[in-house]
Amino acid sequence: MVKHTNSSKQIEIFAQENERRKGMKKNVSILISYPLKTDTPVYSGSPKMKIEQHKSIANGNSSNTSLLTLSNHTGTHLDLPRHFCDDGPAADDMLSARCEFFPTFCIDLSQNGRIAIRPEDFEDHLSDTCSAEALLIKTGIAERRGTSRYCSNYPYVDPDVPGFLRKFYPDLKVFGIDTLSVSNPTFREMGRACHRNFLCDKPSILIMEDVNLSNSRIDRGPWVLKVFPVFLGNLDAVPVISILELQE
Ligand SMILES: [Zn+2]
Repeated sequence: MVKHTNSSKQIEIFAQENERRKGMKKNVSILISYPLKTDTPVYSGSPKMKIEQHKSIANGNSSNTSLLTLSNHTGTHLDLPRHFCDDGPAADDMLSARCEFFPTFCIDLSQNGRIAIRPEDFEDHLSDTCSAEALLIKTGIAERRGTSRYCSNYPYVDPDVPGFLRKFYPDLKVFGIDTLSVSNPTFREMGRACHRNFLCDKPSILIMEDVNLSNSRIDRGPWVLKVFPVFLGNLDAVPVISILELQE
């Protein structure tokens, strides 16, 4: 049984504790990857994820199990150099079960009004973000996820961007974006060149596509980006679970 002694000493301790809590940073942790589902949008021409019943109690099996079929570029995923160069490293060569990137900055380009993201879009942000290990680009297209426009009519990244970033962001390891791909199906040749310039030129910059940046708490940062590959292996890309956290 708790004994209530409303002494002034106790009130003072409560007051001190309240002050201490006010001074503590809120523990912010934001999931920025989408769950994988059969209706997850995919790049034009890629197969949608399928779920089939493998074992079924109704059919006399002892349990229910499912068989998943999916492209490794489904949902929020990392593209690795092997995606565009045969001799480039794959997931097993570059990733561990948990990868961290700090500092990570989010750049909001949702108001830039052009379908192409170009080097000059980064110029105003350079002085504040050039130490980035990861950059996340918000185009604002997430509002249209679930519509056909999300899969066909979205901003793409100009092939000159990777070289510009390599020059002015010397520590950059990951370029993330909230679109299905850095490539838009209407400008495929530009998209191929952009992938090659990110992944095959040295040092490689990995590409994280279909990143969920819709949470209004995501400001410029700096954030800690934590990336957990769902699969490892000799793969050119891997779906990931990704989280943004404030540094402790
Ligand atoms: Zn991809």
